Amino acid sequence: SDDLPGLISAEVGDRAAAWDLAGTIPVEVLRRLGAAGALCAEVPAEYGGPGLSSRRNGELTAHAGTLCSSLRSVMTSQGMAAWTIQRFGTRRQRAEALPRLTRGDLAAVAFSEPQAGSDLSAIATTVKDDGDTVVLNGHKVWSTAAGYADLLVVFGRYQDGAAAVLVPTTTPGVTVRPVPQPLGCRAAGHADVLLEDVRLPAAQVLSGTGQSLPLLTTLALTYGRMSVAWGCVGIIRSCLRAAAAHARDREQFGKPLAEHQLIARHLAELLVAEQTATRVCEHAAGCWDDRSPELSTAAVLAKHVAAGHAARSAATAVQVLASAGSVDGEPVARAYRDAKLMQIIEGSEEICQLILAERALEGAV
Ligand code: FAD
Repeated sequence: SDDLPGLISAEVGDRAAAWDLAGTIPVEVLRRLGAAGALCAEVPAEYGGPGLSSRRNGELTAHAGTLCSSLRSVMTSQGMAAWTIQRFGTRRQRAEALPRLTRGDLAAVAFSEPQAGSDLSAIATTVKDDGDTVVLNGHKVWSTAAGYADLLVVFGRYQDGAAAVLVPTTTPGVTVRPVPQPLGCRAAGHADVLLEDVRLPAAQVLSGTGQSLPLLTTLALTYGRMSVAWGCVGIIRSCLRAAAAHARDREQFGKPLAEHQLIARHLAELLVAEQTATRVCEHAAGCWDDRSPELSTAAVLAKHVAAGHAARSAATAVQVLASAGSVDGEPVARAYRDAKLMQIIEGSEEICQLILAERALEGAV
């Protein structure tokens, strides 16, 4: 489809609040968006994808983020899975797996484990060779979209290093357990995944050999950080719109809220947040499209800045709407819960700061 933003708007309609309250998005909606390539829109045309630049996919992701952060989270997972396959798959693996992800199959990415949160070097899931098969054992937690997924990209220890393995969720030994009642992005299909003697053809191991774990995770996470950052731009835009509309329409003390200067300042801060987050995301997307060596730092910066602004902007927007924004189902209330989680995933605030501090010590400026 040439009009992916229009398609996303039509599929979401006014249903985002209901999906959030129900804790689920109808899977047919996700499959239709997936089949249009909207969930991993950077996949090149040769694999059936829309082949968008990082910049254009970023704007598409922000658009989804204005409407529904749960859907946007599913996009982030599908895009991260596709990028990992594109980056590490052999020619044959790319040709087999990527067209499925642009025809409606859904995918999730599983790094995190009970003992491996911020510290992914603690990943304990094992991938063992056994003739022309591999056997996986492990416990993954909080995999976004795993509740919907046909395919999991599972990171584990392999040979002398690590590997990402394509694991169909129907494989015997795979158990997907939804995370009950997440704080936010409630319809994003978060789930824990148990892998018990999961046997697969060795051809499911991306690239076929052991890789460096930090290299694997950093490459996948860089896509995830870009996507989350743009999603945060969307959250900020929806908060700015809701706060501005409310401040124009609601009167107290004989005049619109917007004419009270303390409220006007809130609106100014929301605009500053939107502009600042957009600019850091545009910069990072430019680094991606130009294959700049600055990309991984730019993606961390974009995610860090955009998530912080999203969390503060959502709190500000609830403040401006006050009681009108204090009800489940209100966009700003949803944004408030969703945005907080953006400061935790794909590198928490603190982990982003540690990475940025390293750049500072290297003399980045
Ligand atoms: P911990 O690592 O235990 O951290 C706890 C606190 O300590 C945090 O504030 C952290 O910043 C801080 N901290 C940790 N180490 C340091 C340090 N060295 N210095 C300073 N502070 C530190 N995982 C997946 O694999 N796939 C997914 O799709 C996925 N989606 C998610 C979606 C949501 C909504 C959430 C909440 C989580 C998701 N996760 C996913 C897991 C996510 O990646 C982890 O929650 C995240 O990495 C943080 O790990 P943790 O929760 O174990 O916190």
